[in-house]
Amino acid sequence: MTTLDIKGLATGYGDLRVVSDATLRVDSGSVTALLGRNGAGKTTTLRAVAGLNKINAGTVTLDDADLSRTPPYRRARAGVGYVQEGKRVFGSRTVEENLLLGTYAGRDRARGRELTEEMYERFPVLAQRRKLPAAQLSGGQQQMLAIAQALVAAPSVLMLDEPSAGLAPAIVGQVLEVINDLRARGLAVLLVEQAVDFALAAADRVVVLNVGRTVYSGHADDPDLRDAIQRAYLAEE
Ligand code: ATP
Repeated sequence: MTTLDIKGLATGYGDLRVVSDATLRVDSGSVTALLGRNGAGKTTTLRAVAGLNKINAGTVTLDDADLSRTPPYRRARAGVGYVQEGKRVFGSRTVEENLLLGTYAGRDRARGRELTEEMYERFPVLAQRRKLPAAQLSGGQQQMLAIAQALVAAPSVLMLDEPSAGLAPAIVGQVLEVINDLRARGLAVLLVEQAVDFALAAADRVVVLNVGRTVYSGHADDPDLRDAIQRAYLAEE
């Protein structure tokens, strides 16, 4: 059992404070969706968990390990995977090279090679196109590659920033299937989404961030969920 625990997180960009109190947890075999309006601080929260933004207050722990002050590569090796918004693959590099780069983030290269073969089985289109530059893949295929690139590092937690953004509806369904599969395989998934319907279809737990603070936290089976989310979106600072 793995738990990513974010408590009272404060972070931002230099002197600009964007997040003042983000609190949420993600358990293995479950999906937590982090919702909130544009600019609420969702991406900034993920960046701070990955180690890309400095944590000014609060803690990020993965099981017993406090990661709040460790550099990004150590967090990746500890099991924190991060798929940034907008398909961050290297377009001029082949599919294969992108996956190889993903294995470098993990703690075990041999395991990374095994996982790469697993990714080719799981996403046959990536196997077919392994020698092609990633830029030649469709948007949906690039999103799958970005997810596969994170998975070959063998994360225990996977953070996905708006994985459905800009994709055709049929592809969005495939992304949802991948998320369901990750949950079934025991990963802890932290999903940032603008698309509330997509998030609710995927999530076990829902957290709403409003102006950098967690203002709602509940279970997806809460009968009052949509109203509660609506109220949380409208809550003033
Ligand atoms: P969105 O869905 O629009 O990305 P979000 O909740 O993910 O929303 P963030 O991207 O975390 O929001 O942005 C929160 C605030 O931080 C915004 O006001 C934004 O302008 C600011 N911000 C984001 N990136 C930077 C940056 N590199 N430098 C300075 N300020 C930034």
